[in-house]
Amino acid sequence: MIVASPKSITELKKLIAGHQKVLFAGCGTCVTVCLAGGEREVGIAGYAVRMARKLENEPLQLTQVTIERQCENEFIKDLAAHVDGVDAIVSFGCGVGVQAIAERFPDIPVYPGLDTEFMGLLEEQAVWTEKCLGCGECVLAVYGGICPVTRCAKRLLNGPCGGSTEDSCEVDPDRPCAWQLIYVRLKNIGQLDRLDDIAEPKDWSPSWHSGARKVVRKEHRV
Ligand code: SF4
Ligand code: SF4
Repeated sequence: MIVASPKSITELKKLIAGHQKVLFAGCGTCVTVCLAGGEREVGIAGYAVRMARKLENEPLQLTQVTIERQCENEFIKDLAAHVDGVDAIVSFGCGVGVQAIAERFPDIPVYPGLDTEFMGLLEEQAVWTEKCLGCGECVLAVYGGICPVTRCAKRLLNGPCGGSTEDSCEVDPDRPCAWQLIYVRLKNIGQLDRLDDIAEPKDWSPSWHSGARKVVRKEHRV
């Protein structure tokens, strides 16, 4: 899922400075699961910002709505009934949600209420780790299901760097060396011979380096 973190109340206040009627829009999918932008978090942020503005004698008329998903127009239309008369929207969705709402309501300023972090996995209560950069050509089959593109700090595809140890990555001692994980995993599943082949330079053309990508699945178009 997409993992995001809430902006501070100070940041939120700054974003909506000068606006009197504001809509805080939550998203009921990834950012609800990662405890950043669901109904509960929007409620807490709304309460805090309203209080802060009141203390500064700058009252705020705030509406709070959480929709199923901000990354689908089908659900964004549910916001339409709530935007009449507001002079700003704060989206508590990921960066996709913010942009989708801005496209849907071109005459209203739309601000991000979260910092979008990465695509990741919930490891344990309130701990997420990044697992995929969305490179467009998945090579996990070669590496026992452990992604060197994302999890090796140097994105090495042909074995570890000289600073690798069994316990940690040279770049961040708190993180395991991805190549140690790959080696152990391939050994456990009897596929160590996969490392005999030298990986060719990765084709980065399907990746994000050349700008925003697009997927069109013709067979599902109507
Ligand atoms: S190889 Fe690419 S698509 Fe596959 S997990 Fe890694 S970054 Fe994601
Ligand atoms: S220590 Fe391991 S994970 Fe870290 S950069 Fe070197 S090979 Fe990559």
